[in-house]
Amino acid sequence: MLPTNDDKLTDNLLSERKRQRSARVKPVNSVKITQRRLMAAIESDNGIGFCVACGEETSGVEPDARKYRCESCGKSAVYGAEEILFHIA
Ligand SMILES: [Zn+2]
Repeated sequence: MLPTNDDKLTDNLLSERKRQRSARVKPVNSVKITQRRLMAAIESDNGIGFCVACGEETSGVEPDARKYRCESCGKSAVYGAEEILFHIA
């Protein structure tokens, strides 16, 4: 095994931990909420929100909605797309 590979692995682990710390909203488990999805949701102008617990997409919520109840998993974890973008990005 080459020492350079170990160095790279350590670097990756460190940056991964840094990313997780900087995210204020709890990371999603199943469906991933990506910045691309958030941008698309905001641009669609349909009041799209996402459940940060399960990743379910919901329409008809305010852009700055917070802690709405998710119809999919039942948790109060639905946030408006803009709200998530400001907290995660
Ligand atoms: Zn949910």
